[in-house]
Amino acid sequence: MNLQTPVRDASRAYKMYGSRLEKLGIRNLGDFLFHIPFRYDDYSLISKIGNVQAGETVTIKGTIEKIANQYTRKWKSLQKAIVKDDTGNIEVLWFNQAFLTRVMKKGDLISLSGKVELDRNKFTFVSPDYEIIFNNETIHTGRLVPVYPETKGISSKWLRRQVYKILDEKELIQEYLPESLIEENQLMNLNDALQAIHFPQNLEQAEKAKQRLAFEELFILQLSTLARKKEWESASLGYSFLITAFDKKIDEFLKKLPFELTNAQKKAVKEILADLERERPMNRLLEGEVGSGKTVVAAIAMYVAFLNGFQSVLMAPTEILAQQHYRTIQKLLGPLGVNVQLFTSGTKPPKIKDYRLKITEKNQKSKIRNQKSFDIAVGTHTLIYNKVKFENLGLVVIDEQQRFGVEQRAIIRSKGRNPHLLTMTATPIPRTVALTIYGDLDLSLLDEMPIGRKKVKTWLVPPEKRTGAYEWIEKEISKHQSQAFIICPFIEESETMVTVKAAAKEFENLKKVFPKLKLGLLHGKLKSKEKETVLMNFKNKKTDILVATPVVEVGIDIPNATIIMIEASERFGLAQLHQLRGRVGRGDKQSYCLLFTDSKNYATLKRLKSMESIHIGAELAELDLKLRGAGDLYGTAQHGRSMLKVADFSDLNLIEKTKCEANKIFNELPKYPVLVGKIKEINNKTVSPD
Ligand code: ADP
Ligand code: MG
Repeated sequence: MNLQTPVRDASRAYKMYGSRLEKLGIRNLGDFLFHIPFRYDDYSLISKIGNVQAGETVTIKGTIEKIANQYTRKWKSLQKAIVKDDTGNIEVLWFNQAFLTRVMKKGDLISLSGKVELDRNKFTFVSPDYEIIFNNETIHTGRLVPVYPETKGISSKWLRRQVYKILDEKELIQEYLPESLIEENQLMNLNDALQAIHFPQNLEQAEKAKQRLAFEELFILQLSTLARKKEWESASLGYSFLITAFDKKIDEFLKKLPFELTNAQKKAVKEILADLERERPMNRLLEGEVGSGKTVVAAIAMYVAFLNGFQSVLMAPTEILAQQHYRTIQKLLGPLGVNVQLFTSGTKPPKIKDYRLKITEKNQKSKIRNQKSFDIAVGTHTLIYNKVKFENLGLVVIDEQQRFGVEQRAIIRSKGRNPHLLTMTATPIPRTVALTIYGDLDLSLLDEMPIGRKKVKTWLVPPEKRTGAYEWIEKEISKHQSQAFIICPFIEESETMVTVKAAAKEFENLKKVFPKLKLGLLHGKLKSKEKETVLMNFKNKKTDILVATPVVEVGIDIPNATIIMIEASERFGLAQLHQLRGRVGRGDKQSYCLLFTDSKNYATLKRLKSMESIHIGAELAELDLKLRGAGDLYGTAQHGRSMLKVADFSDLNLIEKTKCEANKIFNELPKYPVLVGKIKEINNKTVSPD
């Protein structure tokens, strides 16, 4: 058994809890140790029973004199105990925990932590945390007690016990940082740090432990970026595309567009074409806000690949998005003789033979020129796992790249011989973060929106104005023949039946609110055909309002929609809200975003209010980083878990320092096999989409 042992293999209990633990990101034994407490309950004040004060949070240690269940009316139960030490005794009460009388028996030495209350001149301990003392050591009471992120059926108390057990197996924990690094940076060693982050003697110690773990987290991340970069650079050569030879064709394509490219788009195209001309495969990230026009940039790259006789693939994380891309690319490139094919989980790979048959009927010439079954494949993950056969894949484009794991990106690229890679993202990433996690990529930024776009007017709507807002939406829709999105709150991290049920319920409710309008419902559990229908109905204005779970976040383009109403907006990060807001404001009409929340928390309201005045994604992302920390940067809806567990992307100093150290050590890496293993672990981690 070691820290890599999957929890399911470690014990029967863990196996039973497997899927719950998975929700917390705990897959192997080591993950328990890196499940970091988000706070500590301070139960370190230990008092004799005779000295307790009302209102004070203390720990007492004593012997159980008596413990019994009492039943009240309505079958509620009450557990009453008397605990004594050499200075006196005290009454302890719990409610509805009948099992306690089985756990604790008269004569047991126990430790209790909680608040002392004064009830009719008598001190009482009400619902304290408890534990029976063995070996004089306590983990749930009498100290700084770690409190962890929990999930249904997995409590902090349970987690604490597991962590304690694993920490006890000292030989499991192997230091992976070089000793010199630890010394020079005055870091705690791994064993001490893990011990102290979970069971610190005081808060300073916990802080010191956190420093060490944050250091190693960023350090290893930096190393893994360097490793990826090196791997890419040492990869054998790819294809160099002809560019100037096709200048005229590219110009013709641009002239046919219904708009002129923005300067940012022109610059990105130039950078991409320069990459494609080289023999070293391109590895470029195209970052641009929702609506900044990434698709057409990608289309140009794919057109160039086509002109050079190569196939391209465009992969998107959802079927809706893949279908939309398919239509866009088909419209842009179809007329130029490019054969675009859609692959989603429903589609079977085309038989090359059949396709050639069709070609013979249609166009003899292209058959001779082009023996490929398609020029551009557009699709979802299906493209990775499906037996789609590429004859000469020259360019891979991945949209919303953060939704794909490194491994998935590698698999799709492996379908060709070192094809060029263009990844795209709309997630506004602060520079510091980009430099840390995408340091191995070249970056093209679309930092300019197509002209004529109006800012989406945004309001945080107080609950009492809900009815008024509904009325306004209805008027606005009928006055301008426009359409609206209503985004249901997401209840769970990923789309589950719970979310779907809630959305369906809200849908029924909204039908009553808007009796004159036609509503559609979109959620992730619909079959792809159904999704397509719902979306097409909305696009073709057969429905006025699209009620949706946050799945619509990922790029759909409905220029006629001018209103987006977002429920429980406090659950989203600002950058994410901004992305949702980007669903509207795509046409030339004034658009609106209405944010709802039941939160009364001042900080939350202030955070949401900033959506009214800030309309730049990157700025909102920076603000998110400052207000909520990087954990929420990408929002829970997109990423089940955040990328960093301990460190913080806003910690510029540490990012710089670890980068410097990573550079120093990178060339001697083979000397540190355990560290190499850690880096591999990171670089193989896949983000599971949907
Ligand atoms: P995103 O960057 O979010 O993927 P899209 O590529 O979907 O953005 O583009 C959003 C919309 O803007 C599309 O309808 C597209 O046709 C349009 N568009 C793209 N570039 C321009 C431009 N330079 N001028 C005007 N409209 C543009
Ligand atoms: Mg897009």
